[in-house]
Amino acid sequence: MDLLSIVVPCYNEKEALPYFYKEINKISKQMQDVKFELLFVNDGSKDNTIEIIKSLSEKDERVKYISFSRNFGKEAAMYAGLKMASGDYIAIMDADLQDPPKLLPGMYKMITTTDNDIIGLRRKNRAGEGKILDFFKKSFYHIIGKISKTEMVSGARDFRLMTRQVVDAILELQEYNRYSKGIFSWVGFQTYWLEYENVERVAGKTKWSFWKLFVYAMEGIVAFSTAPLVFASLLGIVFLFLAFLLIVFIIIRTAIYGDPTSGWPSLVCILFFVSGIQLFCLGIIGQYLSKTYLETKKRPIYIIKETNKDVVKKDVKKTVKKNK
Ligand code: UDP
Ligand code: MG
Repeated sequence: MDLLSIVVPCYNEKEALPYFYKEINKISKQMQDVKFELLFVNDGSKDNTIEIIKSLSEKDERVKYISFSRNFGKEAAMYAGLKMASGDYIAIMDADLQDPPKLLPGMYKMITTTDNDIIGLRRKNRAGEGKILDFFKKSFYHIIGKISKTEMVSGARDFRLMTRQVVDAILELQEYNRYSKGIFSWVGFQTYWLEYENVERVAGKTKWSFWKLFVYAMEGIVAFSTAPLVFASLLGIVFLFLAFLLIVFIIIRTAIYGDPTSGWPSLVCILFFVSGIQLFCLGIIGQYLSKTYLETKKRPIYIIKETNKDVVKKDVKKTVKKNK
């Protein structure tokens, strides 16, 4: 019998979790030919999410949890979950039911009967999201599609069912700045994209503000493309060329009209403009430098405070308190 691990990153999900559990439990009853493992990763929630998970684990032995020492972000939570998962097939799902569990049986059937290695979910629309946000999200995928060799699928969610082999490949990428959408695609393998209508979260609030999404998008670009660096160099060349034209223009003008000292206001404008461009390019380099800096520190991606998972793998510190 196959073991199916469901990895659920949770951050302040006390409202949504009971619904999620009810739903996934219902689905697991329908899938009699598979064993389930529910892996909740409590990403330093500030509400009583961990108590809810613990009470679930008391009445259901399939429920395993890992609780972080603080909020490390969804990327870290997914990584930890994948690392802890022992299933033959592994799925990642949000706790807010935006990734409908009712799709699981179909996905499982598809991955076991076809030679696809990943069954990914992609939203047909972004119903329930604002037009402006929709525009920015689409633009992001358009830009990154142009500048990165790694393919990013617009509307793709983190909800996916993967084979053990794919997960092992993902775990080999141990970078600190994790941009999962890119990592999932970078490892390759055959992906089948299932489309579905967007579902709004069942309870609780989204953790993503516009600013957070913007920073996340920038991280994606820095992690999967070096095009901005090329852009900075090109900008330098363009400005050199413009400066050359300007020199020729001024020499000719002075030769014809004399008066070499006029033009102070225009000079100030040019100075501001060019130093702005310089700072902008310096900023681009800074982005890459800062990521390199963080990467060289080799800090752990997450720190576990407690867990009830029996196979605490070798890289998890021995100091981890084991409940049960
Ligand atoms: N999440 C997490 N850590 C964070 C933020 C979010 O583990 O720092 C989890 C969250 O609990 C949820 C999933 O990631 O299960 C998706 O979050 P959310 O629903 O807020 O994002 P959205 O669906 O709005 O993109
Ligand atoms: Mg959500």
